[in-house]
Amino acid sequence: MINILFAAHPDRWDEYQAPLTKALNEAGLIFDMRTEFSPEQVDYIVYAPNSALQDFTPYTNCRAVLNLWAGVENIVGNQTLRMPLARMIDRGMTRGMVEWVTGHVMRHHLGMDSHIFGQDGQWRSEIAPLACDRPVTILGMGTLGQACAEALTNLEFPVTGWSRTPKSLPGITALSGEAQLEKSLESAQIVILLLPLTAETQGVINTQRLAALPKGAVLINAGRGPLIDDAALLACLDADHLGHATLDVFDIEPLPVEHVFWHHPKITVTPHIASATRPTSSSKVIAENIRRGEAGEALLHLVDRHTGY
Ligand code: NAP
Repeated sequence: MINILFAAHPDRWDEYQAPLTKALNEAGLIFDMRTEFSPEQVDYIVYAPNSALQDFTPYTNCRAVLNLWAGVENIVGNQTLRMPLARMIDRGMTRGMVEWVTGHVMRHHLGMDSHIFGQDGQWRSEIAPLACDRPVTILGMGTLGQACAEALTNLEFPVTGWSRTPKSLPGITALSGEAQLEKSLESAQIVILLLPLTAETQGVINTQRLAALPKGAVLINAGRGPLIDDAALLACLDADHLGHATLDVFDIEPLPVEHVFWHHPKITVTPHIASATRPTSSSKVIAENIRRGEAGEALLHLVDRHTGY
């Protein structure tokens, strides 16, 4: 019998109990899954970083912590977590991110706001350039960044992707490392942030990097709020260098009601909804990892504690 502790926010149990049970059964596992156990009895923890569980010390027999979120910045540095930590890579989450990013890119590319908010009797006949004349840069070319790059490339946007390590990706200009960051920004009319939050990426979008963008560029942040220096962002928008910022993630969430971002005419706030882990597809990922753990196979999507993602 495999004992599985479900240690996400209590609201998630109702969503996950049935699909996880189904996926674990389909993986041929004999298990007992609950929201409470004696810690030393637990074999695997299905986890979300906003769980009440923060001290892993008593879970002496736990073989792995399986995160339901893609982002691990709130758990990767936990010194009590000594067992392997896997993050979530879920097809449903990836497709959701592709749809959100593509939608917000197309909004800015086509200048849709001028028609949606401009129903004032004026015949605005300005034609948007074709996608092939709108360079897009994606910072963060992991699971989500690459999937978005593929979708945007299929729409014929010229895509530049920036990552920590060098890559070769068909149809994409691939740049890497701090030395190539500004090069990746200098022709970008739309920039998409899909970086994890680590010690190295915190504040990566600062005054200098914003200044490297062409005038009128649009910034779309679906990574994490602290990737951006907010004061630098506001100054760049107010100086009319940056055209617009669409922000899904923030230093403090929920974004406080009095926050300047809510009222800024050149900022669009979305409430961390770019993409969510989908219970049905992610349950299959969790079940596969437990099956692997039981079979002595390598776990999928392990977090590198050194790089922090
Ligand atoms: P991932 O597969 O781990 O990819 C991360 C990418 O960032 C990789 O390309 C990595 O480079 C790059 N990177 C990391 N540190 C870097 C650095 N110092 N300099 C340059 N590039 C760096 O992550 P993912 O699954 O695509 O997810 C990305 C992030 O999206 C998550 O961490 C999470 O914060 C966010 N997210 C947000 C939502 C939402 O709803 N808003 C939903 C899901 C995820 P290498 O390829 O060289 O390793």
